Amino acid sequence: MSAIVEYDCIVVGAGIEGSATAYHLAKKKQRTLLLEQFGLPHTRGSSFGQSRLTRFSYRQKHYMQMMEEAFPLWSVLEKETKTTLFRNTQLLIIQKPPYNLLEGRKKQLMAFGKLHRELTHREVLQRCPGMRLTEDFRALLDECAGTLKANKALKGFQDEFKKRGGIIHDEEKVLSIIPGKIVTVCTTKNRYTSKSVVLTAGPWSSKILQPLGLSLPLETKSPSWMYRITYLLSWQIMEKIVFSRKFPHFLFFPLLN
Ligand SMILES: Cc1cc2nc3c(=O)[nH]c(=O)nc-3n(C[C@H](O)[C@H](O)[C@H](O)COP(=O)(O)OP(=O)(O)OC[C@H]3O[C@@H](n4cnc5c(N)ncnc54)[C@H](O)[C@@H]3O)c2cc1C
Repeated sequence: MSAIVEYDCIVVGAGIEGSATAYHLAKKKQRTLLLEQFGLPHTRGSSFGQSRLTRFSYRQKHYMQMMEEAFPLWSVLEKETKTTLFRNTQLLIIQKPPYNLLEGRKKQLMAFGKLHRELTHREVLQRCPGMRLTEDFRALLDECAGTLKANKALKGFQDEFKKRGGIIHDEEKVLSIIPGKIVTVCTTKNRYTSKSVVLTAGPWSSKILQPLGLSLPLETKSPSWMYRITYLLSWQIMEKIVFSRKFPHFLFFPLLN
C-alpha cells in the first residue's frame, strides 16, 4: 500500500454533482481528490447522457434561489471551456385541472421576475401540432428554460478541475470512510486522509453510509419521462429538433404520478 496523502477534501463520485463540487473546491484552492469507481467517462450513473433540462420553474422558492445562482455559473463554465453547454429551448408545462402545479410555478416565476407565458390548449396545439390535448389542459411556458449538454458539462467540470491542480482517480472504488478530525477514505487501491469528505455517490450513497450508521431513505424509481422517445430517434435528428428552439422541453403532469 502506498504512502498516505493528505487532502483538504476528498469527493466521492464523479457524476455531475461530484465533478462540479470538485471544480469549485479547486477554484477555492482546496487540495482536492475526486474518486470514481468506474473508468471515466462511463454510462452507469445518472449524469450520463446527451442532454438535461434546466429551468427556473419550480414551485419551491429555495429551488428558484438555487437556479438564480446556477444559471450564471453555466455561462462561466462555457467561457472557461469555450464550449456551448446551454441552449434556451424554453419549457412547456402542461396540466389538467386543478392546475395546482402550474399555478405554483407561475407564482414563483412572477415573484422572481422570470419570463413566462400562459398558453391555452389551442395555443399549445398551434405551437406543437403533434400533441393531442383536450380543452381542459392549460400550459405554462418557462421562457428561460433550456437544454444542457450533459456529457460536455461533465467533461468540462472534470477538465477545469484538473487544470486547477485537482486530482481524479477513476477505476477506484471507495470501500469505507472512517470518520474523525482527519477522515480516512479506504479504496480498492489505497487509503487517503483528508480534512473533509463530500459524498456525491448518487444512488450508491447508502452503501457507503450504512456502515456509518446513517440510513438515507433512498429509493430508485422509474419515472415515465416523455423524452424516452428521444432514445428512438438518432441524436442528429433530436439535436435539430431540440436545439432548433422550435420545440420546447415539456413536462406533462398526468404522466409524472
Ligand atoms: C434518464 C434521466 C433523465 C434525467 N433528466 C434530468 C433533467 O432533464 N434535468 C435535471 O436537472 N435532472 C435530470 N435527471 C437527474 C440528474 O441527471 C441527476 O440528478 C444527476 O445526474 C445526479 O448526479 P450525481 O452526480 O448525484 O449522480 P451520478 O451521476 O449517479 O454520480 C454518482 C457517481 O458516484 C460514483 N460512485 C458511487 N459509489 C462510489 C464509490 N463507492 N466509490 C467511487 N465512486 C462511486 C458512481 O459511479 C457515479 O459516477 C435525470 C436523470 C436521469 C437518470
